Amino acid sequence: MLNANCIDPWTFSQDKQTAVWQFVLNDLDPRVMEDGIFANSQNIVQAAFLGGINALGQHFIDVHLTATLQLVCQRCLKTMNFALDNTVKTLIFTDETQANQADCTVEDADVLVVVGNSICVAEWVEDQLLTALPFSPMHAQCDTAVVLDNQTVNPFSVLKGLHK
Ligand SMILES: [Zn+2]
Repeated sequence: MLNANCIDPWTFSQDKQTAVWQFVLNDLDPRVMEDGIFANSQNIVQAAFLGGINALGQHFIDVHLTATLQLVCQRCLKTMNFALDNTVKTLIFTDETQANQADCTVEDADVLVVVGNSICVAEWVEDQLLTALPFSPMHAQCDTAVVLDNQTVNPFSVLKGLHK
């Protein structure tokens, strides 16, 4: 784990704050690297957080992740480049009742979460990063036919890390 930057999501959204953090994959939680998808633990992910309050008075935090990642092609096991450009709009609530009520009316949000007075930026980025990646990254067309005579990667290892 990083020296986790924690933010108060309520102040962050109330004050319409923005912040940009950079993470090296290697500095994130080990489970990020464990799933065998990343080919280079030194790749950098940039996370831009934008807070605000929408027309309905709901607090939101949008997180925009960008990175040029090197992933392991799950077909030929060679490295492939993957351009990550992913935004998740999150509405935050103090309790579940509020969130459930809002769930019916919300259109412009991807996720509704119940949060306390502090959230860990690194954990948020880790979750979003793992969700944003293709389930089984592959070249559109692999260079050469590869015979997997000794399979070094368990095809199911990709499943690890997607669930806490
Ligand atoms: Zn490939």
